[in-house]
Amino acid sequence: MGWQLKIGRAAGIDVFVHWTFVFAPIYVVYSCWETGWAMIGVMLVLLLCFFACVLLHEFGHALAAKQLGIKTLDIIITPIGGLARLVGMSRNHPWQEFLITLAGPAVNLFLCLLFLIYLVATSQNLMPTSIAAFPQILFWANLALFLFNLVPAFPMDGGRILRSLLAIFVPYKTATMIAGNLGRVLAILFVVTGLYRSEFPFVLIGIFVFFAATAEIEFTRDATDSDRLD
Ligand SMILES: [Zn+2]
Repeated sequence: MGWQLKIGRAAGIDVFVHWTFVFAPIYVVYSCWETGWAMIGVMLVLLLCFFACVLLHEFGHALAAKQLGIKTLDIIITPIGGLARLVGMSRNHPWQEFLITLAGPAVNLFLCLLFLIYLVATSQNLMPTSIAAFPQILFWANLALFLFNLVPAFPMDGGRILRSLLAIFVPYKTATMIAGNLGRVLAILFVVTGLYRSEFPFVLIGIFVFFAATAEIEFTRDATDSDRLD
């Protein structure tokens, strides 16, 4: 995947940050420039906390895969999300893909509940009153990560869950075609919505989803039934 920096290793899995990640803090500094350096500092710490949640999400996939005997090559963090690269997931066991994929959003739901319990136990409001209200912001961020990842825009998690459920009833190729084409339609919606609302990250995610869905459709179309999907 090009240039990347190793930032650590856990549970036998190397964690890398892709070079394009530098655009995330640059985007934060650019969009908060008027507010001063103190606010920019808080936003950068918040950005780090957010991507720590993304990293834990990826470890959810990787550790579920490990339980099922599937190896994770590495985890790569990019500005539009994380990627746990699994090796040797068989297309003949759609339930494996279902469980491994579900484990990522499940981590965000778990984190969301942890922050909720903390906020309720300390009698705090759920709505953040300032940018420094980290528990409130991370509660909503994890709820958003949980829900957003379940959008069936293949190859995002929701789309993979859909593909794995379809693959129980129809051939794997057909399941990939259906999920992939739905993913491309939703990707176009992401781009249009992102442009309309000037939400630049949405545009990037839409473009990524469109090309990744196309690549998966073509890969599966070309693969023979005996191939293993890596
Ligand atoms: Zn995921």
